[in-house]
Amino acid sequence: MFGAQSTTNQLALTIDDGYCAECVAAYVAFVQQTGIHITFSPNGAYRGYWEPFADTLKPLIEAGQVQIANHTYDHYDLTRSSNAQVHSELDRNELWIEQTFGVTSRPWYRPPFGYHNARTDEIAGQLGYTKVLMWNGTFGDATLLTPDELMAQATQYLKPGTVMLGHANHPTVTHLFDRIRSIIDERGLEPVTLDEMFGTSRAEG
Ligand SMILES: [Zn+2]
Repeated sequence: MFGAQSTTNQLALTIDDGYCAECVAAYVAFVQQTGIHITFSPNGAYRGYWEPFADTLKPLIEAGQVQIANHTYDHYDLTRSSNAQVHSELDRNELWIEQTFGVTSRPWYRPPFGYHNARTDEIAGQLGYTKVLMWNGTFGDATLLTPDELMAQATQYLKPGTVMLGHANHPTVTHLFDRIRSIIDERGLEPVTLDEMFGTSRAEG
């Protein structure tokens, strides 16, 4: 099981991709307005949707409220990519993250679709990605969900120690932030970044 120890109230929200402009905008506004701690794993392929918010996110990243993980540039299945492709997919996204957000994503990489193996982890490790970002809870919203479906996922998985997977890909979640936040508050959960949950830092790698 990937997650934090059960003695904690910590919850790590990890939000991927970003191929929906209004979803990225809504997530950034949610984070900015609530002060909630979160990790984004954007793909450079959707840079056009993320870059308008670089100036908003930079100070939040600096303050440790927001963390950026490496989810590769094009979101290919790395287990079906060549060594050189795995290398360049991580490298290219890191370069984009550094240029856009002024921070490294090391040591965290989230394999697209969660597909990874010893070979991809070895290449990632050589680049400084010594932590594979998996999850033990999910909004299930890689595909389009109804509000009821998404809230059922939220109710099931927003618990102490959960690394929660979500996506800035479909607008459903953007209309549910108040309800999601209520669950977090009612259950006394403390939203944290990966650094805060796992004791990693931006100096690693
Ligand atoms: Zn993804």
